[in-house]
Amino acid sequence: MALRTSFSCEACDENGQTTLDEAIQPCHRGCGYTGWQQEALRILETDLGAEILQRLQQISAYREQFACHLCGACCRLASQDADYATLRQRAEAGDDFARQFTSVFLPYASRAAAREKAPELVAAVLAETVEEPEGAERVFFYHCPYVGEDNRCTVYGTEKRPGICQSYPETPLVFIQSQCAWQPWKQETHPQTLMAHALLQVSESLRQRLQWALEGRPGVG
Ligand code: SF4
Ligand code: SF4
Ligand SMILES: [Zn+2]
Repeated sequence: MALRTSFSCEACDENGQTTLDEAIQPCHRGCGYTGWQQEALRILETDLGAEILQRLQQISAYREQFACHLCGACCRLASQDADYATLRQRAEAGDDFARQFTSVFLPYASRAAAREKAPELVAAVLAETVEEPEGAERVFFYHCPYVGEDNRCTVYGTEKRPGICQSYPETPLVFIQSQCAWQPWKQETHPQTLMAHALLQVSESLRQRLQWALEGRPGVG
């Protein structure tokens, strides 16, 4: 995105060299940086967007090399950082993940109840998620009543099965247990996934600012 070399604007450059940030601000009609803004927008919408999406698709495709071994762990024990009432509140406030989660998962009556059902899982989740002892108080356990004896989902293929189950293990906010067949995939690809999502976010905000600037609306920092 060659800025000062190929483009200039009398108004924008009045107080010296225009910085990248200043070139994304709206200017009077006929700004000399309009061409740069359009070019930057094009790169964001095509090349960069495509590159990030391609990276995410590669991560997704790599996932196909692993297969669920139907241990049932993800349905029998899910952990969240909030109790059921709080999750319901979040759901009502418009949190889509909380809405989907509470549409199937139910809280264990107590941590002891969760331990009784799945002692190894509870221990493993606590060991993996909790760094300080007080942190354990902020972990809440849930189970889904729709998991069958054979560990298969009894609402598979129906509307009842939420999107977070369909997209598992690509669902954000879901803790992947160590015995899950996809744990190695998650471990290997998680940093790249986070980076790709961060890039998407940054490029989306930049794209909006460029659009606003091109439309002459005030950009938001
Ligand atoms: S809806 Fe099905 S896949 Fe989702 S947690 Fe329940 S049993 Fe598992
Ligand atoms: S924890 Fe992983 S391997 Fe086990 S049933 Fe769930 S998706 Fe399959
Ligand atoms: Zn200008």
